[in-house]
Amino acid sequence: MESKGEQLHIFFFPLMAPGHMIPIVDAAKMFAARGVRASIITTAANAPAVESSICRSAKSGANVGTLLIEWPFSAAGQPENFSWIASPDMRLDFLVGTPALRPSFERLVKNHRPSAIVTDMFYPWTVEVAEEVGIPRLVFHATSFFSLCLEDILVPSTASQENHADSDDRFVIPGIPHRIDFSQSQVFDPKKMRPDFADLLMKMKVTQGRNYGAMVNSFYELEPDYVEHYRQVIGRKAWHIGPVSLCNKDPADSAIRGGKTTVDQARCLMWLDSKEEKSVLYVCFGSLYQFTKTQLREIAGALESTGYPFIWVTQGGGEDNPSGQWLPEGFEERVVESGGGMIIRGWAPQVLILNHVAVGGFMTHCGWNSSLESIAAGLPVLTWPLEADQFYNERLLVDVLKIGAGMGVKVWSIRKEHRSAVKAEEIVAAVGRLMGASPDAEEMRGRARELKAAARRAMEEGGSSHADVGRLIQELSDKQAVGSRV
Ligand code: UDP
Repeated sequence: MESKGEQLHIFFFPLMAPGHMIPIVDAAKMFAARGVRASIITTAANAPAVESSICRSAKSGANVGTLLIEWPFSAAGQPENFSWIASPDMRLDFLVGTPALRPSFERLVKNHRPSAIVTDMFYPWTVEVAEEVGIPRLVFHATSFFSLCLEDILVPSTASQENHADSDDRFVIPGIPHRIDFSQSQVFDPKKMRPDFADLLMKMKVTQGRNYGAMVNSFYELEPDYVEHYRQVIGRKAWHIGPVSLCNKDPADSAIRGGKTTVDQARCLMWLDSKEEKSVLYVCFGSLYQFTKTQLREIAGALESTGYPFIWVTQGGGEDNPSGQWLPEGFEERVVESGGGMIIRGWAPQVLILNHVAVGGFMTHCGWNSSLESIAAGLPVLTWPLEADQFYNERLLVDVLKIGAGMGVKVWSIRKEHRSAVKAEEIVAAVGRLMGASPDAEEMRGRARELKAAARRAMEEGGSSHADVGRLIQELSDKQAVGSRV
């Protein structure tokens, strides 16, 4: 227990999507390990995944559990998890529809009277619930400080606010510590987005000032200029608490992260054991993304011709090309059965794979969890962003941290058929830049190793993230003590 007095009780309320649930559940476990009572708010269909992720912590004595809210869309047949929906339009419906969770969430808050709520960035309406009850709301950002700083500039706060010029010319982001440029096609453009979704992003931005502060899955030494910019220039209170994946000290905890059964785990680790150190390329585009059949074939062709052993995690091509049919003729026999590569269809034990000595690089879509897990494992990355904050994270990895080689993707899009196909030759060349023995590749590997050490130090007792968690617990405890005296 960090502080004397009444025990803090914090609600942690993630968006029901793997990339949001995983880090918030880790955060809840971290706070529970430091004496806080942590309640993770979720729906019945998502509860088993959360419960299997926290059961080892709970058994070891940490006060972490789940509380259920109702899912208001059952009658309409809407799935309870973002990743169970394939259609981009229905995914947007899922995001803009979350205010319907409010009555049920509000009842839980009123019944339990938590000391504070930590809620997903996609739930701006929770700030109103917190204000009504008179408790602090912290927003949980499953992204980098760097991307928060860029978003502050690029996402307009009103529908009428002009964004930068609509052109393919590159433009430089003004007023940030590094020279970072994009083309318009690489950034989210509210003018081209569904108005209700653009409106949600604006709400997320304009409610920021009403939050008690932000909890960010990052660490100070990774992006000090952007932690400072966020705090001093944008003027928001924020705590860096990551990389939260490192709270899972036992491989069994890493394996169960996300609460999915990974049938391939033992086979996968044995396969890795048979490979040379740093020889394997790990390819995974997060928990959500599918590609067109054309693109999948280009990736397959490239992986076959690079000669590097690989693990390729794929969600396949979706409804228009079901499992396996997109692989080039004979690929399984030539590449997989010969031991040159492994394909995981579905869910991989990512953190275990990234930390295996045989893995030398990660081809990633730059989702923030994957980016940070790679950093915590000391691996350089090959960046292939698709949408969301991924193009921002790419710039952080490639231009600022210099631990990544870019694939040169030019189009931000939520639709796989709108993304320009990257050709096999380009992929092969990029893999060579990442995995090869050039001085540039060696330098990237060296910097990645240094960041791994810094990430681990940040999470140890006395480290920057460990200390920030302690400061936040103390601050909330002091606030609670004052509140209970008045
Ligand atoms: N993940 C995993 N196995 C998979 C795919 C993803 O464990 O097969 C985890 C990954 O470790 C990360 C999260 O799912 O913690 C994905 O988050 P990220 O921000 O990288 O991408 P998103 O899926 O949200 O786009």
